[in-house]
Amino acid sequence: MSKDILSTRADFPILKQTINGLPLVYLDNAATTHKPQSVIDAISRYYSTMNANIHRGNHTLAVQATQAYEDVRKKVATFINAPSSSQVVFTRGTTESINLVAYSFGQAFVKPGDEIIVSQLEHHSNYVPWLLMCQRQGAVFRVLPFDENSELDLQALEKLLNKKTRLVAVNHVSNTLGTVNPVEEIIRIAHAAKVPVLVDGAQAIQHLAHDVQALDADFYAFSGHKMYAPMGVGVLYGKKEWLEQLPPFQSGGEMIDEVTPDSVTFNVLPYKFEAGTPNVADVIGLGAAIDYLNQFNSAELQSYEDELLEYGLGLLRAIPGLTVYGNPRQRSAILPFNIEGIQHYDLGTLLDTKGIAVRTGQHCTQPIMDALHIAGTVRASLAIYNSRDDLDALAKGIDRVVRLIRRQT
Ligand code: PLP
Repeated sequence: MSKDILSTRADFPILKQTINGLPLVYLDNAATTHKPQSVIDAISRYYSTMNANIHRGNHTLAVQATQAYEDVRKKVATFINAPSSSQVVFTRGTTESINLVAYSFGQAFVKPGDEIIVSQLEHHSNYVPWLLMCQRQGAVFRVLPFDENSELDLQALEKLLNKKTRLVAVNHVSNTLGTVNPVEEIIRIAHAAKVPVLVDGAQAIQHLAHDVQALDADFYAFSGHKMYAPMGVGVLYGKKEWLEQLPPFQSGGEMIDEVTPDSVTFNVLPYKFEAGTPNVADVIGLGAAIDYLNQFNSAELQSYEDELLEYGLGLLRAIPGLTVYGNPRQRSAILPFNIEGIQHYDLGTLLDTKGIAVRTGQHCTQPIMDALHIAGTVRASLAIYNSRDDLDALAKGIDRVVRLIRRQT
């Protein structure tokens, strides 16, 4: 039987804290999620019982640490349904995963005059690496726009794709508007034009069920810290045919096969992309986070979070002067809004005085802000441990803050 979602709050020690004398209402989960005690314990256990460098030593601790690290690779492969754990590369996070592909793919496959398509809904992490790569390679950076409902225009995608297109980069879920992009359809369209697709799954991995093979994604990137795992660890999944063809991103220990003064050959997958001492403790923490998530039925989890989102959207839309941004057919876990006449930053700061943590600003998505002609938004974002109580507290907090500001102005 799967674990009861309503019991999860107790698993996260940080949520027992008070902030400004009030119970913490944490609604900044798109920035980072909190860690359950089991993840914190796994990291601590690694350092207190195992700490050793991996793939190098043959003493007991080194063998145990290597085994534990490689077990997590298998666990990740099963979690995302990768055909083989050799297609799971550990990185520092989504940003590094995308930089790896932008650098290596650019070097191997992009020539002057070629084109890359990036959506207008991207986080800077899936925008700037491609922009810089296009500048380095003399390629053309094309932007796939979103429409008034904050959905990507798939007809525009068909028109943008041509013989010079080398890759499409798109997120699975927008961190700013919550749009769940039709990545399966996008991949199908791109593949019909023989173009590979990189999917940024940073905001999807913790909310949606995953199957990189069913999706047919060429690359899929995500971060541990947004799925209840530690900061500083992430994953790049890639199709074998692509990963084998890409040159290494970083070089150094462990990624080589043979080195002479005249030449170097590279290790097999995935080690070719894991130069230097990896973040073993946090990879083990990622494994504990996957164990944590595997206790739930993923369909139940998604419907719990979707119901919570609808509840929150209903509460927000009832507040006079409040605009919720975007109206996509499918939205996940993100509530983006502003209140007429109130700076998003001021609203966030005053909500914090009530113990309510939300994010304010551009959310690393200036292209979205420019398209919407706004300076920023307030963003509440959900996780497994949130409940209707948190959203009631948010609505009540907004009401109080708005009254306070209106009294003063
Ligand atoms: N992509 C999306 C959609 C994100 O929301 C984020 C972080 O907020 C990133 C990429 C970057 O993730 P990280 O900073 O963990 O590398």
